[in-house]
Amino acid sequence: MLTTSAIYPAEITDYTADGMGIAHVEGCAVFIPNAIFGEQYRIRIVHAGKNKAIGKIEEILVRSPHRIIRDCPWAKVCGGCDFRHMDYVEEQRLKAQRVRDTLTRLGGWTPEKLPLHGAESTQGYRNKALFPVAMVHGKAEAGFFRARTHTLIPISECLLQNDPANRARQAVVEYLRQYRVSVYDEVAHTGLVRHIYVRTAEVTGEVMVCLIVNGKKLPREKELCQMLRESVPGLKSVLLGVNEKKGNSVMGDEFRTLWGADAIEDVLCGLRFRLSPRSFYQVNHAQAQVLYEKAARLAALTSEDTVLDLYCGTGTITLHLARQAKEAIGVELVEAAIEDAKKNALRNGIENARFFCADAGQAAARLLDEGVRPDVVVVDPPRKGLAPDVVQTIAQMGPKRVVYVSCDVATLARDIARFRELGYAPKEAECVDLFPRCAHVESIVCLTHD
Ligand code: SAH
Repeated sequence: MLTTSAIYPAEITDYTADGMGIAHVEGCAVFIPNAIFGEQYRIRIVHAGKNKAIGKIEEILVRSPHRIIRDCPWAKVCGGCDFRHMDYVEEQRLKAQRVRDTLTRLGGWTPEKLPLHGAESTQGYRNKALFPVAMVHGKAEAGFFRARTHTLIPISECLLQNDPANRARQAVVEYLRQYRVSVYDEVAHTGLVRHIYVRTAEVTGEVMVCLIVNGKKLPREKELCQMLRESVPGLKSVLLGVNEKKGNSVMGDEFRTLWGADAIEDVLCGLRFRLSPRSFYQVNHAQAQVLYEKAARLAALTSEDTVLDLYCGTGTITLHLARQAKEAIGVELVEAAIEDAKKNALRNGIENARFFCADAGQAAARLLDEGVRPDVVVVDPPRKGLAPDVVQTIAQMGPKRVVYVSCDVATLARDIARFRELGYAPKEAECVDLFPRCAHVESIVCLTHD
């Protein structure tokens, strides 16, 4: 076992799923933040376990040509970005490598080719911001939490966020201070404003600002709206989201419009989408289009095909694919998203798409019972992946192809192994980087029936 606080030499030979460097020191795996493959250090052990330890770089002995100077003053303390210390070339290499290794290790399959589609823009790409609000040294502040804590770091600008989000955050902080509006204290469960949630529509430029509040109303709501209207160009909607629950869940269920529209609208893959506050929408517009184009290519639909899109959100993939298919069916758990999806079909004049609000597994089982036999099934589940019964039901439907869009390669690989047992073999994989500077990456795998 390594000794806490002791210094050791270390060389980085791999990365963890969340982007830390891995070195092997005296037979023990040491995880080191801000590290780069091939670099050699003197490290200090900050936590020593039996087989694993956490280390901190004390001195860089051999420096990678991919090391860069951090362009964000908060990068070292903020938990938002994982890769501000390395260039985008190395980030893309490590992401593709991680997907390949995980598919091999947990899925038992190594794709022949694994293209990673990198982003053209690695800054300001997020269309959704969620800033926690807290009192810091007696003043209302909004920013981000320090990595792995709930300690708020006030920031004046985030490089991943766009200009409207940074402006909205500033305007709300001014409102809180000017009118002495109380800020939520998560330990005492007192005070009002918990989070500032900003969503921007890239193409239309429409902006939604939502204050998540431990209560049903705010003092001086009119003044808040006025301050936002003066500071945020494109503002279309100001909402109050009620979240009176204890704990870490951010979004409430109830929303009240304080000013403007109840939802905003964006254009994606040439289609118009209504976005209400609770609906899922990919945070990187440019790369979401790349992702959906790749998914459509792998789905390879003909005008005779029926496509089932499980976990469809506001129907973005469903409607994109409906244009190439005879019929498209979307299934999603969040009611507001399905309402958006139905409106989105109407708005785009798409008549061959229908939507159900249900759990994906239950809906698939019902459709199977009703005799629905989709030619292609698309799934885009949350990080936990597919429940075993969903894999089973899809296989029973007997589609010629399954296109699996995944935000977590470990659960994707696990589900590939389950599909294989049921006669579906993975054929092609691609990665799309929707989250530059962060450890997440999206992958798509096409499975076909043997
Ligand atoms: N394909 C969409 C949404 C993907 S995100 C897009 O690209 O925009 C995953 C979606 O799965 C979310 O909208 C979430 O609400 C939904 N979801 C989560 N659990 C679900 C379940 N058990 N059944 C159906 N949908 C679910």
